[in-house]
Amino acid sequence: MKEISRRSFLKGSVAAAAALGLTGIAPSAFAEEAEKPAEAEAEFAALDYAAVEAAKEEETDVVVVGIGVSGTTAAAGAADKGCKVIAIDRAVGFQATNNVNTTGAWHVESSEQVKYEGYITKQEAFEHIMAGTNYQCNARLIRNLLEVSGRAIDIVINSGMPLLYPFSFGATDWLSRGGHVYLVDGMERVPFLQKIFDDRPNIELRWQTQVTNLLKDGDAVVGVLTTDKDGNVTKIRAKSVIVCTGGFLQNKEMVAKYYGGAELVPQDNRYNDGEGIQLLQNAGAQMGKNFSISMNEMGSANFKATPTFSWAPGRGTNATFYFPNFGLMLVNRAGDRFMDERRMCEATMYSGEQALRESTYFTIVDQDFMDKISTTPVIDFLGEGAKANMGQALLAGFDGVVLDNIYDDFEEAVSQDWAFKADTIEELAEHFNMPNLVKTVETYNAACESGVDDQMYTPAEYLIPVKKGPFYMVEYNVGAWLTLGGIKTDGNLAAQTADGKSIPNLYVAGADADLWSVPYYQGGSALGFCYASGLLAGETAAENAMK
Ligand SMILES: Cc1cc2nc3c(=O)[nH]c(=O)nc-3n(C[C@H](O)[C@H](O)[C@H](O)COP(=O)(O)OP(=O)(O)OC[C@H]3O[C@@H](n4cnc5c(N)ncnc54)[C@H](O)[C@@H]3O)c2cc1C
Repeated sequence: MKEISRRSFLKGSVAAAAALGLTGIAPSAFAEEAEKPAEAEAEFAALDYAAVEAAKEEETDVVVVGIGVSGTTAAAGAADKGCKVIAIDRAVGFQATNNVNTTGAWHVESSEQVKYEGYITKQEAFEHIMAGTNYQCNARLIRNLLEVSGRAIDIVINSGMPLLYPFSFGATDWLSRGGHVYLVDGMERVPFLQKIFDDRPNIELRWQTQVTNLLKDGDAVVGVLTTDKDGNVTKIRAKSVIVCTGGFLQNKEMVAKYYGGAELVPQDNRYNDGEGIQLLQNAGAQMGKNFSISMNEMGSANFKATPTFSWAPGRGTNATFYFPNFGLMLVNRAGDRFMDERRMCEATMYSGEQALRESTYFTIVDQDFMDKISTTPVIDFLGEGAKANMGQALLAGFDGVVLDNIYDDFEEAVSQDWAFKADTIEELAEHFNMPNLVKTVETYNAACESGVDDQMYTPAEYLIPVKKGPFYMVEYNVGAWLTLGGIKTDGNLAAQTADGKSIPNLYVAGADADLWSVPYYQGGSALGFCYASGLLAGETAAENAMK
Protein backbone atom coordinates (compact mmCIF):
# COMPACT_ATOMS: atom_id res chain seq x y z
CA MET A 1 0.00 0.00 0.00
CA LYS A 2 2.81 2.35 0.91
CA GLU A 3 4.52 1.56 -2.32
CA ILE A 4 1.67 2.76 -4.51
CA SER A 5 1.55 5.96 -2.58
CA ARG A 6 5.22 6.81 -2.50
CA ARG A 7 5.91 6.14 -6.12
CA SER A 8 2.75 7.82 -7.25
CA PHE A 9 3.66 10.94 -5.38
CA LEU A 10 7.03 10.87 -7.04
CA LYS A 11 5.14 10.98 -10.30
CA GLY A 12 3.36 14.04 -8.98
CA SER A 13 -0.19 12.79 -9.13
CA VAL A 14 -2.48 13.26 -6.16
CA ALA A 15 -5.24 11.08 -7.54
CA ALA A 16 -2.74 8.38 -8.27
CA ALA A 17 -1.48 8.59 -4.75
CA ALA A 18 -4.63 7.07 -3.31
CA ALA A 19 -3.67 3.70 -2.02
CA LEU A 20 -6.86 2.06 -3.24
CA GLY A 21 -8.67 3.19 -0.20
CA LEU A 22 -12.01 4.81 -0.78
CA THR A 23 -11.38 8.39 -1.68
CA GLY A 24 -12.51 11.10 -3.99
CA ILE A 25 -15.93 11.72 -2.54
CA ALA A 26 -17.02 14.94 -0.96
CA PRO A 27 -19.84 14.75 1.58
CA SER A 28 -22.19 16.06 -1.08
CA ALA A 29 -21.11 13.43 -3.56
CA PHE A 30 -24.55 12.63 -4.77
CA ALA A 31 -25.77 16.22 -4.86
CA GLU A 32 -26.40 15.98 -8.60
CA GLU A 33 -29.48 14.12 -7.63
CA ALA A 34 -30.92 16.49 -5.09
CA GLU A 35 -34.47 15.65 -6.09
CA LYS A 36 -35.36 12.00 -5.84
CA PRO A 37 -37.57 11.17 -8.82
CA ALA A 38 -41.11 9.99 -8.08
CA GLU A 39 -41.17 6.25 -7.61
CA ALA A 40 -43.78 3.54 -7.55
CA GLU A 41 -44.95 2.28 -4.16
CA ALA A 42 -43.74 -1.19 -4.99
CA GLU A 43 -43.64 -4.22 -2.76
CA PHE A 44 -41.24 -6.00 -5.08
CA ALA A 45 -43.39 -9.14 -5.23
CA ALA A 46 -42.65 -11.63 -7.97
CA LEU A 47 -45.70 -11.55 -10.24
CA ASP A 48 -47.13 -14.02 -12.69
CA TYR A 49 -46.15 -12.78 -16.16
CA ALA A 50 -49.45 -13.66 -17.80
CA ALA A 51 -51.53 -12.02 -15.08
CA VAL A 52 -49.84 -8.62 -15.30
CA GLU A 53 -51.32 -6.01 -17.59
CA ALA A 54 -49.30 -3.00 -18.66
CA ALA A 55 -49.89 -0.28 -21.22
CA LYS A 56 -46.63 -1.12 -22.92
CA GLU A 57 -45.06 -4.52 -23.56
CA GLU A 58 -41.55 -5.13 -24.91
CA GLU A 59 -39.11 -7.98 -25.49
CA THR A 60 -35.36 -8.26 -25.16
CA ASP A 61 -32.67 -10.87 -24.58
CA VAL A 62 -31.23 -9.57 -21.31
CA VAL A 63 -32.46 -7.05 -18.75
CA VAL A 64 -29.85 -5.56 -16.39
CA VAL A 65 -31.33 -4.03 -13.23
CA GLY A 66 -28.94 -1.30 -12.01
CA ILE A 67 -26.31 0.51 -14.12
CA GLY A 68 -23.72 0.96 -11.40
CA VAL A 69 -20.37 -0.78 -11.27
CA SER A 70 -21.49 -4.36 -11.90
CA GLY A 71 -24.38 -3.31 -14.16
CA THR A 72 -21.89 -1.65 -16.50
CA THR A 73 -19.86 -4.79 -17.13
CA ALA A 74 -22.97 -7.02 -17.02
CA ALA A 75 -24.56 -5.07 -19.86
CA ALA A 76 -21.29 -4.86 -21.81
CA GLY A 77 -20.60 -8.57 -21.34
CA ALA A 78 -24.05 -9.63 -22.54
CA ALA A 79 -23.94 -7.19 -25.45
CA ASP A 80 -20.52 -8.41 -26.55
CA LYS A 81 -21.96 -11.92 -26.78
CA GLY A 82 -24.49 -10.57 -29.26
CA CYS A 83 -27.51 -10.02 -27.02
CA LYS A 84 -29.99 -7.19 -27.13
CA VAL A 85 -29.80 -5.61 -23.69
CA ILE A 86 -32.02 -3.18 -21.79
CA ALA A 87 -30.19 -1.67 -18.79
CA ILE A 88 -32.35 0.12 -16.23
CA ASP A 89 -31.52 2.38 -13.28
CA ARG A 90 -33.46 4.56 -10.85
CA ALA A 91 -30.73 7.22 -10.82
CA VAL A 92 -30.71 10.20 -13.20
CA GLY A 93 -27.54 9.11 -14.96
CA PHE A 94 -23.96 7.91 -14.55
CA GLN A 95 -23.20 11.04 -12.52
CA ALA A 96 -25.43 9.78 -9.71
CA THR A 97 -23.97 6.28 -9.43
CA ASN A 98 -21.21 5.03 -7.13
CA ASN A 99 -19.12 4.59 -10.26
CA VAL A 100 -18.07 8.25 -10.22
CA ASN A 101 -16.91 8.39 -6.61
CA THR A 102 -14.53 5.49 -6.15
CA THR A 103 -10.73 5.38 -6.10
CA GLY A 104 -9.67 2.15 -7.64
CA ALA A 105 -10.30 -1.49 -8.33
CA TRP A 106 -8.28 -4.65 -7.70
CA HIS A 107 -8.01 -6.91 -10.75
CA VAL A 108 -5.95 -9.78 -12.00
CA GLU A 109 -4.34 -10.24 -15.42
CA SER A 110 -5.76 -7.17 -17.13
CA SER A 111 -4.27 -6.21 -20.50
CA GLU A 112 -2.11 -3.66 -18.65
CA GLN A 113 -0.89 -6.03 -15.92
CA VAL A 114 0.36 -8.70 -18.28
CA LYS A 115 2.72 -6.16 -19.84
CA TYR A 116 4.82 -6.21 -16.66
CA GLU A 117 7.03 -8.95 -15.36
CA GLY A 118 5.80 -10.78 -12.31
CA TYR A 119 2.18 -9.90 -12.92
CA ILE A 120 -0.28 -11.26 -10.43
CA THR A 121 -1.59 -14.63 -11.59
CA LYS A 122 -5.02 -16.15 -11.06
CA GLN A 123 -3.59 -18.93 -8.92
CA GLU A 124 -1.71 -16.50 -6.67
CA ALA A 125 -4.82 -14.36 -6.34
CA PHE A 126 -7.07 -17.34 -5.64
CA GLU A 127 -4.84 -18.62 -2.86
CA HIS A 128 -4.40 -15.14 -1.42
CA ILE A 129 -8.12 -14.38 -1.40
CA MET A 130 -9.13 -17.73 0.05
CA ALA A 131 -6.60 -17.39 2.88
CA GLY A 132 -7.41 -13.68 3.33
CA THR A 133 -11.09 -14.44 3.80
CA ASN A 134 -10.45 -17.42 6.05
CA TYR A 135 -11.82 -19.77 3.38
CA GLN A 136 -15.34 -18.52 3.95
CA CYS A 137 -16.26 -17.40 0.45
CA ASN A 138 -17.67 -19.32 -2.48
CA ALA A 139 -14.50 -20.85 -3.93
CA ARG A 140 -16.09 -21.85 -7.27
CA LEU A 141 -17.32 -18.32 -7.74
CA ILE A 142 -14.01 -16.72 -6.73
CA ARG A 143 -12.25 -18.97 -9.23
CA ASN A 144 -14.61 -17.91 -12.02
CA LEU A 145 -14.42 -14.25 -11.05
CA LEU A 146 -10.66 -14.39 -11.33
CA GLU A 147 -11.02 -15.89 -14.78
CA VAL A 148 -12.86 -12.77 -16.02
CA SER A 149 -11.38 -10.17 -13.66
CA GLY A 150 -8.78 -8.78 -16.09
CA ARG A 151 -11.22 -8.64 -19.00
CA ALA A 152 -13.71 -6.82 -16.76
CA ILE A 153 -11.41 -3.88 -16.05
CA ASP A 154 -10.34 -3.95 -19.72
CA ILE A 155 -13.88 -2.80 -20.55
CA VAL A 156 -13.13 0.36 -18.55
CA ILE A 157 -9.57 0.67 -19.86
CA ASN A 158 -10.80 0.40 -23.44
CA SER A 159 -13.18 3.30 -22.90
CA GLY A 160 -10.08 5.49 -22.58
CA MET A 161 -10.72 6.16 -18.89
CA PRO A 162 -7.50 7.64 -17.43
CA LEU A 163 -6.15 5.13 -14.92
CA LEU A 164 -2.92 4.72 -13.03
CA TYR A 165 -1.33 1.30 -12.66
CA PRO A 166 0.74 1.02 -9.46
CA PHE A 167 2.17 -2.30 -10.68
CA SER A 168 3.78 -0.46 -13.59
CA PHE A 169 6.20 1.15 -11.11
CA GLY A 170 7.43 -2.23 -9.93
CA ALA A 171 5.39 -2.32 -6.73
CA THR A 172 5.50 -5.66 -5.00
CA ASP A 173 2.76 -5.49 -2.36
CA TRP A 174 -0.57 -7.20 -3.02
CA LEU A 175 -2.70 -4.09 -3.20
CA SER A 176 -0.45 -2.43 -5.77
CA ARG A 177 -0.03 -5.56 -7.85
CA GLY A 178 -3.78 -5.63 -8.43
CA GLY A 179 -4.35 -1.87 -8.42
CA HIS A 180 -6.14 0.03 -11.18
CA VAL A 181 -6.58 3.55 -9.82
CA TYR A 182 -8.80 6.22 -11.38
CA LEU A 183 -7.00 9.39 -12.43
CA VAL A 184 -10.17 11.41 -12.92
CA ASP A 185 -12.91 12.06 -10.42
CA GLY A 186 -16.63 12.57 -10.41
CA MET A 187 -18.19 14.06 -13.54
CA GLU A 188 -14.94 13.70 -15.50
CA ARG A 189 -15.62 9.97 -15.60
CA VAL A 190 -19.06 10.25 -17.17
CA PRO A 191 -18.00 10.52 -20.86
CA PHE A 192 -15.87 7.38 -20.50
CA LEU A 193 -18.67 5.42 -18.85
CA GLN A 194 -21.02 6.66 -21.56
CA LYS A 195 -18.54 5.51 -24.22
CA ILE A 196 -18.71 1.94 -22.92
CA PHE A 197 -22.38 2.03 -23.90
CA ASP A 198 -21.99 4.11 -27.08
CA ASP A 199 -19.58 1.45 -28.32
CA ARG A 200 -22.33 -1.15 -27.87
CA PRO A 201 -25.45 -0.02 -29.75
CA ASN A 202 -27.26 -3.23 -28.78
CA ILE A 203 -27.63 -1.85 -25.23
CA GLU A 204 -30.46 0.54 -24.44
CA LEU A 205 -30.02 2.64 -21.30
CA ARG A 206 -33.05 3.66 -19.27
CA TRP A 207 -32.42 6.09 -16.42
CA GLN A 208 -34.92 7.25 -13.81
CA THR A 209 -36.69 3.96 -14.23
CA GLN A 210 -37.37 1.58 -11.39
CA VAL A 211 -37.73 -2.17 -11.66
CA THR A 212 -40.62 -2.87 -9.33
CA ASN A 213 -41.22 -6.57 -9.91
CA LEU A 214 -39.69 -9.66 -11.41
CA LEU A 215 -42.15 -11.52 -13.65
CA LYS A 216 -42.34 -15.29 -13.49
CA ASP A 217 -43.76 -18.16 -15.45
CA GLY A 218 -43.83 -21.05 -13.00
CA ASP A 219 -40.38 -21.24 -11.39
CA ALA A 220 -38.68 -19.30 -14.15
CA VAL A 221 -38.11 -15.56 -14.26
CA VAL A 222 -39.25 -14.31 -17.67
CA GLY A 223 -39.11 -10.55 -17.37
CA VAL A 224 -39.49 -7.39 -15.30
CA LEU A 225 -42.06 -4.71 -14.64
CA THR A 226 -40.76 -1.14 -14.67
CA THR A 227 -42.08 2.31 -13.82
CA ASP A 228 -40.46 5.36 -15.38
CA LYS A 229 -40.23 8.85 -13.89
CA ASP A 230 -43.56 9.83 -15.42
CA GLY A 231 -45.28 6.83 -13.89
CA ASN A 232 -45.50 4.81 -17.13
CA VAL A 233 -45.52 1.09 -16.44
CA THR A 234 -43.80 -1.25 -18.89
CA LYS A 235 -43.72 -5.02 -19.01
CA ILE A 236 -40.50 -6.37 -20.48
CA ARG A 237 -40.18 -10.01 -21.46
CA ALA A 238 -36.55 -11.12 -21.18
CA LYS A 239 -34.72 -14.41 -21.62
CA SER A 240 -32.36 -13.52 -18.76
CA VAL A 241 -32.53 -10.97 -15.94
CA ILE A 242 -29.48 -9.78 -14.00
CA VAL A 243 -30.11 -7.96 -10.71
CA CYS A 244 -27.27 -5.71 -9.53
CA THR A 245 -28.68 -2.90 -7.41
CA GLY A 246 -25.76 -2.46 -5.02
CA GLY A 247 -26.78 -4.02 -1.71
CA PHE A 248 -28.83 -2.64 1.16
CA LEU A 249 -26.80 -0.11 3.13
CA GLN A 250 -29.52 2.53 2.78
CA ASN A 251 -32.17 0.22 4.25
CA LYS A 252 -32.16 0.51 8.06
CA GLU A 253 -34.41 -2.49 8.66
CA MET A 254 -32.35 -4.79 6.47
CA VAL A 255 -29.11 -3.54 8.06
CA ALA A 256 -30.47 -4.28 11.53
CA LYS A 257 -31.67 -7.70 10.40
CA TYR A 258 -28.42 -8.85 8.82
CA TYR A 259 -25.93 -7.03 11.09
CA GLY A 260 -27.10 -8.15 14.50
CA GLY A 261 -29.25 -5.09 15.21
CA ALA A 262 -26.54 -2.59 14.29
CA GLU A 263 -27.05 0.79 12.69
CA LEU A 264 -24.78 1.88 9.86
CA VAL A 265 -24.33 5.42 8.58
CA PRO A 266 -24.61 5.01 4.79
CA GLN A 267 -22.09 6.78 2.58
CA ASP A 268 -23.23 5.45 -0.77
CA ASN A 269 -25.87 5.94 -3.45
CA ARG A 270 -29.30 6.51 -1.91
CA TYR A 271 -30.70 3.77 -4.16
CA ASN A 272 -28.60 1.05 -2.54
CA ASP A 273 -31.65 0.35 -0.43
CA GLY A 274 -32.09 -3.36 -0.84
CA GLU A 275 -34.79 -3.28 -3.52
CA GLY A 276 -32.87 -5.68 -5.72
CA ILE A 277 -32.36 -8.14 -2.89
CA GLN A 278 -36.07 -7.99 -2.08
CA LEU A 279 -36.90 -8.61 -5.76
CA LEU A 280 -34.61 -11.64 -5.68
CA GLN A 281 -35.91 -12.97 -2.38
CA ASN A 282 -39.49 -12.65 -3.55
CA ALA A 283 -38.58 -14.68 -6.60
CA GLY A 284 -37.41 -17.48 -4.29
CA ALA A 285 -33.69 -16.64 -3.94
CA GLN A 286 -31.88 -17.31 -0.67
CA MET A 287 -29.82 -14.76 1.23
CA GLY A 288 -26.29 -15.93 2.10
CA LYS A 289 -25.02 -16.11 5.67
CA ASN A 290 -21.91 -13.91 5.70
CA PHE A 291 -22.07 -10.15 6.07
CA SER A 292 -19.38 -7.55 6.35
CA ILE A 293 -18.76 -3.90 5.53
CA SER A 294 -15.94 -1.75 4.35
CA MET A 295 -15.80 0.97 6.95
CA ASN A 296 -15.13 4.69 6.53
CA GLU A 297 -11.34 4.96 6.77
CA MET A 298 -11.36 8.67 7.62
CA GLY A 299 -12.62 8.23 11.13
CA SER A 300 -16.15 7.74 12.27
CA ALA A 301 -19.72 8.81 11.74
CA ASN A 302 -22.84 9.82 13.61
CA PHE A 303 -26.45 9.96 12.49
CA LYS A 304 -26.97 13.13 14.55
CA ALA A 305 -24.14 15.03 12.84
CA THR A 306 -24.36 17.18 9.71
CA PRO A 307 -22.73 15.88 7.55
CA THR A 308 -22.95 12.43 9.10
CA PHE A 309 -19.39 11.29 8.41
CA SER A 310 -15.93 12.74 8.16
CA TRP A 311 -13.78 13.76 5.31
CA ALA A 312 -10.37 15.36 5.04
CA PRO A 313 -9.95 18.79 6.66
CA GLY A 314 -11.43 21.72 4.80
CA ARG A 315 -14.44 19.75 3.58
CA GLY A 316 -16.80 20.96 6.29
CA THR A 317 -16.83 17.83 8.38
CA ASN A 318 -16.48 17.74 12.15
CA ALA A 319 -12.87 17.14 13.22
CA THR A 320 -13.83 15.11 16.29
CA PHE A 321 -14.61 12.34 13.79
CA TYR A 322 -10.84 11.93 13.29
CA PHE A 323 -10.18 10.87 16.87
CA PRO A 324 -10.41 7.12 16.18
CA ASN A 325 -7.66 7.61 13.57
CA PHE A 326 -5.31 8.67 16.38
CA GLY A 327 -5.67 5.41 18.29
CA LEU A 328 -7.44 6.91 21.30
CA MET A 329 -9.24 4.87 23.94
CA LEU A 330 -12.54 3.46 22.64
CA VAL A 331 -15.38 2.21 24.81
CA ASN A 332 -18.78 0.68 24.21
CA ARG A 333 -22.14 1.69 25.67
CA ALA A 334 -21.35 0.01 28.96
CA GLY A 335 -18.06 1.90 29.22
CA ASP A 336 -15.86 -1.14 28.47
CA ARG A 337 -13.01 -1.14 25.98
CA PHE A 338 -13.75 -3.56 23.15
CA MET A 339 -10.74 -3.62 20.81
CA ASP A 340 -7.05 -2.94 20.40
CA GLU A 341 -7.34 0.73 19.43
CA ARG A 342 -4.31 0.48 17.18
CA ARG A 343 -6.45 -1.53 14.76
CA MET A 344 -8.98 1.26 14.49
CA CYS A 345 -6.37 3.65 13.14
CA GLU A 346 -4.10 1.24 11.32
CA ALA A 347 -6.80 -0.86 9.67
CA THR A 348 -9.88 1.33 9.86
CA MET A 349 -11.69 -0.11 6.86
CA TYR A 350 -11.28 -3.59 8.31
CA SER A 351 -12.35 -2.66 11.85
CA GLY A 352 -15.97 -2.84 10.84
CA GLU A 353 -16.65 -6.12 12.55
CA GLN A 354 -15.53 -5.03 16.00
CA ALA A 355 -17.24 -1.67 15.80
CA LEU A 356 -20.38 -3.26 14.33
CA ARG A 357 -20.63 -5.57 17.30
CA GLU A 358 -21.01 -2.47 19.48
CA SER A 359 -22.92 -0.42 16.86
CA THR A 360 -22.43 2.72 18.95
CA TYR A 361 -19.06 3.44 20.51
CA PHE A 362 -17.22 6.34 22.14
CA THR A 363 -13.85 7.94 22.57
CA ILE A 364 -12.70 9.98 25.52
CA VAL A 365 -9.86 12.50 25.73
CA ASP A 366 -8.56 14.82 28.41
CA GLN A 367 -7.57 18.48 28.48
CA ASP A 368 -3.90 17.74 27.82
CA PHE A 369 -4.83 15.98 24.61
CA MET A 370 -7.15 18.81 23.54
CA ASP A 371 -4.38 21.34 24.21
CA LYS A 372 -2.02 19.35 22.06
CA ILE A 373 -4.39 18.56 19.20
CA SER A 374 -5.49 22.18 18.91
CA THR A 375 -1.92 23.45 18.52
CA THR A 376 0.10 20.63 16.90
CA PRO A 377 -0.01 19.50 13.24
CA VAL A 378 -2.28 16.47 12.83
CA ILE A 379 0.45 14.59 11.02
CA ASP A 380 2.31 14.40 14.33
CA PHE A 381 -0.60 12.50 15.85
CA LEU A 382 -0.76 9.92 13.13
CA GLY A 383 1.44 6.90 13.66
CA GLU A 384 3.17 5.34 10.65
CA GLY A 385 0.58 2.58 10.57
CA ALA A 386 -2.27 5.07 10.50
CA LYS A 387 -0.63 6.96 7.64
CA ALA A 388 -0.22 3.80 5.60
CA ASN A 389 -3.84 2.93 6.30
CA MET A 390 -5.12 6.21 4.94
CA GLY A 391 -3.16 6.41 1.74
CA GLN A 392 -1.53 9.54 0.41
CA ALA A 393 -4.62 11.13 -1.12
CA LEU A 394 -6.31 11.18 2.27
CA LEU A 395 -3.15 12.02 4.10
CA ALA A 396 -2.58 14.97 1.79
CA GLY A 397 -5.71 16.50 3.30
CA PHE A 398 -3.94 16.65 6.66
CA ASP A 399 -0.74 18.12 5.30
CA GLY A 400 0.14 21.21 7.35
CA VAL A 401 -3.23 21.14 9.13
CA VAL A 402 -3.63 22.00 12.80
CA LEU A 403 -7.07 21.30 14.23
CA ASP A 404 -7.36 24.75 15.74
CA ASN A 405 -11.15 24.58 15.34
CA ILE A 406 -11.44 21.50 17.46
CA TYR A 407 -13.20 23.25 20.35
CA ASP A 408 -15.83 24.71 18.00
CA ASP A 409 -16.32 21.34 16.39
CA PHE A 410 -16.66 19.69 19.79
CA GLU A 411 -19.24 22.29 20.82
CA GLU A 412 -21.14 21.66 17.61
CA ALA A 413 -21.20 17.94 18.45
CA VAL A 414 -22.46 18.80 21.94
CA SER A 415 -25.23 20.93 20.46
CA GLN A 416 -26.18 18.01 18.20
CA ASP A 417 -26.22 15.70 21.22
CA TRP A 418 -23.36 13.37 20.28
CA ALA A 419 -20.65 14.71 22.62
CA PHE A 420 -20.38 15.80 26.22
CA LYS A 421 -17.78 17.58 28.36
CA ALA A 422 -17.43 17.09 32.12
CA ASP A 423 -14.98 17.86 34.90
CA THR A 424 -14.91 14.27 36.09
CA ILE A 425 -15.14 10.80 34.59
CA GLU A 426 -17.97 10.09 37.04
CA GLU A 427 -20.04 12.88 35.45
CA LEU A 428 -19.38 11.50 31.98
CA ALA A 429 -20.34 8.02 33.14
CA GLU A 430 -23.58 9.38 34.52
CA HIS A 431 -24.37 11.41 31.41
CA PHE A 432 -23.84 8.47 29.06
CA ASN A 433 -25.20 5.92 31.55
CA MET A 434 -22.00 3.83 31.47
CA PRO A 435 -21.69 1.66 34.57
CA ASN A 436 -18.13 0.49 33.83
CA LEU A 437 -16.51 3.70 32.60
CA VAL A 438 -14.81 4.86 35.80
CA LYS A 439 -13.11 1.51 36.35
CA THR A 440 -12.17 1.25 32.68
CA VAL A 441 -10.47 4.65 32.68
CA GLU A 442 -8.56 3.79 35.86
CA THR A 443 -7.27 0.55 34.35
CA TYR A 444 -6.45 2.27 31.06
CA ASN A 445 -4.51 5.05 32.78
CA ALA A 446 -2.51 2.47 34.71
CA ALA A 447 -1.64 0.82 31.39
CA CYS A 448 -0.59 4.20 30.00
CA GLU A 449 1.75 4.65 32.95
CA SER A 450 3.34 1.20 32.76
CA GLY A 451 3.30 1.09 28.96
CA VAL A 452 1.73 -2.37 29.14
CA ASP A 453 -1.92 -2.92 28.27
CA ASP A 454 -2.93 -6.36 29.47
CA GLN A 455 -6.57 -5.77 28.49
CA MET A 456 -6.47 -5.32 24.70
CA TYR A 457 -2.69 -5.42 24.20
CA THR A 458 -2.71 -1.99 22.56
CA PRO A 459 0.94 -0.96 22.04
CA ALA A 460 2.39 1.79 24.24
CA GLU A 461 2.54 4.33 21.39
CA TYR A 462 -1.26 4.30 21.26
CA LEU A 463 -1.86 4.50 25.00
CA ILE A 464 -2.86 8.12 25.59
CA PRO A 465 -3.72 8.97 29.22
CA VAL A 466 -7.12 10.36 30.19
CA LYS A 467 -6.12 12.11 33.38
CA LYS A 468 -6.48 15.86 33.40
CA GLY A 469 -9.99 17.30 33.39
CA PRO A 470 -12.12 18.53 31.90
CA PHE A 471 -12.81 15.41 29.86
CA TYR A 472 -14.32 15.27 26.39
CA MET A 473 -16.37 12.32 25.20
CA VAL A 474 -17.66 11.75 21.68
CA GLU A 475 -20.21 9.20 20.47
CA TYR A 476 -19.87 7.42 17.13
CA ASN A 477 -21.85 5.20 14.82
CA VAL A 478 -20.24 2.99 12.24
CA GLY A 479 -20.01 4.55 8.78
CA ALA A 480 -19.82 2.23 5.76
CA TRP A 481 -19.30 2.45 2.02
CA LEU A 482 -21.32 -0.61 1.14
CA THR A 483 -22.82 -3.80 2.48
CA LEU A 484 -20.89 -6.95 1.69
CA GLY A 485 -23.09 -10.03 1.61
CA GLY A 486 -26.15 -10.93 -0.41
CA ILE A 487 -27.98 -13.57 -2.43
CA LYS A 488 -26.48 -17.04 -2.77
CA THR A 489 -25.43 -18.01 -6.27
CA ASP A 490 -23.78 -20.88 -8.05
CA GLY A 491 -20.27 -20.45 -9.42
CA ASN A 492 -21.61 -18.48 -12.39
CA LEU A 493 -23.91 -16.12 -10.52
CA ALA A 494 -27.23 -17.84 -11.11
CA ALA A 495 -29.47 -16.97 -8.14
CA GLN A 496 -30.13 -19.96 -5.94
CA THR A 497 -32.95 -21.17 -3.74
CA ALA A 498 -32.44 -22.42 -0.19
CA ASP A 499 -32.15 -25.99 -1.47
CA GLY A 500 -29.35 -25.06 -3.87
CA LYS A 501 -31.36 -24.97 -7.09
CA SER A 502 -30.73 -22.22 -9.61
CA ILE A 503 -33.76 -20.09 -10.42
CA PRO A 504 -34.09 -20.29 -14.21
CA ASN A 505 -33.00 -17.11 -16.04
CA LEU A 506 -32.16 -15.15 -12.90
CA TYR A 507 -28.65 -13.83 -12.15
CA VAL A 508 -27.10 -11.61 -9.48
CA ALA A 509 -23.98 -9.43 -9.54
CA GLY A 510 -22.15 -6.89 -7.40
CA ALA A 511 -23.07 -6.13 -3.82
CA ASP A 512 -26.45 -7.88 -4.20
CA ALA A 513 -24.58 -11.20 -4.42
CA ASP A 514 -22.91 -13.35 -1.80
CA LEU A 515 -19.45 -12.67 -3.24
CA TRP A 516 -17.41 -11.88 -0.19
CA SER A 517 -17.25 -13.21 3.30
CA VAL A 518 -16.61 -11.73 6.67
CA PRO A 519 -14.03 -10.23 7.00
CA TYR A 520 -13.82 -7.53 4.37
CA TYR A 521 -11.01 -8.64 2.13
CA GLN A 522 -8.87 -5.67 1.02
CA GLY A 523 -8.93 -2.21 -0.56
CA GLY A 524 -10.15 -2.21 -4.16
CA SER A 525 -11.68 -5.66 -3.85
CA ALA A 526 -15.24 -4.31 -3.62
CA LEU A 527 -15.01 -2.57 -6.95
CA GLY A 528 -12.85 -5.27 -8.49
CA PHE A 529 -15.28 -8.05 -7.62
CA CYS A 530 -18.24 -5.92 -8.71
CA TYR A 531 -16.79 -5.31 -12.16
CA ALA A 532 -15.77 -8.97 -12.44
CA SER A 533 -19.09 -10.33 -11.22
CA GLY A 534 -20.94 -8.06 -13.63
CA LEU A 535 -19.01 -9.46 -16.56
CA LEU A 536 -19.40 -13.05 -15.40
CA ALA A 537 -23.15 -12.61 -14.87
CA GLY A 538 -23.50 -10.79 -18.20
CA GLU A 539 -21.78 -13.56 -20.11
CA THR A 540 -23.61 -16.32 -18.28
CA ALA A 541 -26.95 -14.59 -18.81
CA ALA A 542 -26.13 -14.13 -22.51
CA GLU A 543 -25.34 -17.82 -22.96
CA ASN A 544 -28.63 -18.66 -21.28
CA ALA A 545 -30.50 -16.20 -23.51
CA MET A 546 -29.01 -17.65 -26.67
CA LYS A 547 -29.71 -21.31 -25.82
C1 LIG B 1 -17.97 6.93 -2.15
C2 LIG B 1 -17.59 5.52 -2.39
C3 LIG B 1 -16.28 5.22 -2.73
C4 LIG B 1 -15.94 3.90 -2.98
N1 LIG B 1 -14.65 3.62 -3.37
C5 LIG B 1 -14.29 2.36 -3.62
C6 LIG B 1 -12.94 2.06 -4.03
O1 LIG B 1 -12.14 2.95 -4.24
N2 LIG B 1 -12.61 0.76 -4.22
C7 LIG B 1 -13.51 -0.24 -4.02
O2 LIG B 1 -13.15 -1.40 -4.20
N3 LIG B 1 -14.80 0.01 -3.68
C8 LIG B 1 -15.21 1.28 -3.48
N4 LIG B 1 -16.50 1.55 -3.11
C9 LIG B 1 -17.47 0.47 -3.10
C10 LIG B 1 -18.05 0.30 -4.53
O3 LIG B 1 -18.49 1.54 -5.00
C11 LIG B 1 -19.19 -0.67 -4.53
O4 LIG B 1 -18.62 -1.90 -4.19
C12 LIG B 1 -19.84 -0.77 -5.90
O5 LIG B 1 -20.37 0.45 -6.31
C13 LIG B 1 -20.95 -1.78 -5.87
O6 LIG B 1 -21.32 -2.00 -7.19
P1 LIG B 1 -22.75 -2.54 -7.54
O7 LIG B 1 -22.82 -2.69 -9.00
O8 LIG B 1 -23.05 -3.70 -6.69
O9 LIG B 1 -23.76 -1.38 -7.07
P2 LIG B 1 -23.86 0.21 -7.52
O10 LIG B 1 -22.59 0.55 -8.20
O11 LIG B 1 -24.28 0.89 -6.35
O12 LIG B 1 -25.00 0.13 -8.60
C14 LIG B 1 -26.32 -0.22 -8.26
C15 LIG B 1 -27.31 0.61 -9.10
O13 LIG B 1 -28.62 0.03 -8.99
C16 LIG B 1 -29.58 1.06 -9.06
N5 LIG B 1 -30.85 0.56 -8.52
C17 LIG B 1 -31.15 0.27 -7.23
N6 LIG B 1 -32.40 -0.24 -7.16
C18 LIG B 1 -32.90 -0.29 -8.41
C19 LIG B 1 -34.15 -0.70 -8.98
N7 LIG B 1 -35.13 -1.23 -8.25
N8 LIG B 1 -34.35 -0.55 -10.33
C20 LIG B 1 -33.36 -0.02 -11.11
N9 LIG B 1 -32.16 0.37 -10.62
C21 LIG B 1 -31.92 0.24 -9.29
C22 LIG B 1 -28.93 2.19 -8.27
O14 LIG B 1 -29.47 3.43 -8.64
C23 LIG B 1 -27.44 2.04 -8.61
O15 LIG B 1 -27.01 2.94 -9.60
C24 LIG B 1 -16.89 2.85 -2.84
C25 LIG B 1 -18.20 3.17 -2.47
C26 LIG B 1 -18.56 4.49 -2.27
C27 LIG B 1 -19.98 4.81 -1.89
